[in-house]
Amino acid sequence: MSLLIPDVPTLFLNARLIDGTGADPVPDGCVQIEGNEITKVGRRADFSDSPNGNFRVVDLEGRTLMPGLVEGHFHCSFWGVRELPDLDLKLPAERTTVYAVKNLELALRCGYTSVASAGALHRIDVTLRDLVDEGVIPGPRMAASGRDVCATSGMLDWNPSFWKLGMDGLAIFADGVDEVRRAVRQNIKEGADVIKLYVTGEGLLRPGVPPEETMYSLEEIQVAVDEAHKRNRQIAAHVRGVDGVKLCAEAGVDVLEHATYADDEAVAMIAERKDDMFVVPGLGYHWGILEKGVECGIPPGVMAKTEYQEEWELGCVAMDKLRKAGVRVVPGGDYGFVWCPHGEYAKDIELFVTDMGFSPMEAIVASTKHGSELVRMEHLTGTIEEGKRGDVLVVNGDPLDDITILQDRSKLDLVMKDGKVYVNNLGLEQELAAIPDLMMDIEKIQLENARPPTMPTAAEVQH
Ligand SMILES: [Zn+2]
Repeated sequence: MSLLIPDVPTLFLNARLIDGTGADPVPDGCVQIEGNEITKVGRRADFSDSPNGNFRVVDLEGRTLMPGLVEGHFHCSFWGVRELPDLDLKLPAERTTVYAVKNLELALRCGYTSVASAGALHRIDVTLRDLVDEGVIPGPRMAASGRDVCATSGMLDWNPSFWKLGMDGLAIFADGVDEVRRAVRQNIKEGADVIKLYVTGEGLLRPGVPPEETMYSLEEIQVAVDEAHKRNRQIAAHVRGVDGVKLCAEAGVDVLEHATYADDEAVAMIAERKDDMFVVPGLGYHWGILEKGVECGIPPGVMAKTEYQEEWELGCVAMDKLRKAGVRVVPGGDYGFVWCPHGEYAKDIELFVTDMGFSPMEAIVASTKHGSELVRMEHLTGTIEEGKRGDVLVVNGDPLDDITILQDRSKLDLVMKDGKVYVNNLGLEQELAAIPDLMMDIEKIQLENARPPTMPTAAEVQH
């Protein structure tokens, strides 16, 4: 990781420019960055023959230059999760926080210059968002969530009542309009940009709370939406089953996380609100658990009983329909579980192409421009245009030809955020020497330290 370089103006020449708007690539693209801002974008002929000597001129020799990526469903505080108690009971907040810091570094190294937090343990995301913005730690721009808002008996209420544990880290339990309103206000007080509401259940990790069951009424969802919108905050809902999707669409939830069981009627309801609503499928999680769940310790008998295969198939069809209906569907895959660890974020972009009907260009627009709109930072990032911040990814290859190249970190030659270089395989001059590359081990460390399934889950405990 190469931290902090002085604000040397930079001129990139001879890029294959993919600007994130969906426009055709420009073969001889040139981008000028001064301080933290993109000050000029054009072709070679738009720039003088001998660029001003005060610029650091970088000939990209046909490499791709594109906007930094946006991960649409990110949990920096999750790591090595194999079962739900890993998210609350097994680790102290201090250790979780340090791992979250390392996960933010990792996301930046993977070319992600912005992330949408989709739920956080404790106040970790809010705190780290501020520390990143202050320059204390490296990391992507973040729309930060607070603790999840969940109904009693909802998906996150997994501790048996007689344990008398309650919940410390992940969720605030709230029932009825008054409690939901209070939970939203509590999150606002704590500094959240995004309020995450748990509307339906889930396929495997919480048996007894299936995806088709809805835990919140329209009135409860509506009060959360109204309260958040009054304060200019965003509401994101964990919602899988079709009834829940329709309630969330009706209430005006901003971000539908998953929406995998959306039928044609639900797709039409979302499409009607497409200027105000996003869908983030989170299907990297499904791909991972279906491919690697058994090797990660889920007994085959348990795997066979899950609804994940069905949800994956229905979800891919639903995302294709939503795309065709003009809805902004943004890649984001719930990374942080043992079967979909941090660092594999760009797998989601590939799945958009291979399984959800997106062209490579549509998938790139979804993970740049639409992603920046999701995190409400389209004035800063998401496209390569004059006046935006210098959030830039240089790839040694063409992602339109091979979308999987975005997962190959040896091909990510440059990651710049806010005009500062964090990954530099181009030999750019920097004032500070690069810090040794030890932090890449964080992925290995997380997997090695992932807890074995030693505790009974709520589903295994007699109530
Ligand atoms: Zn999630």
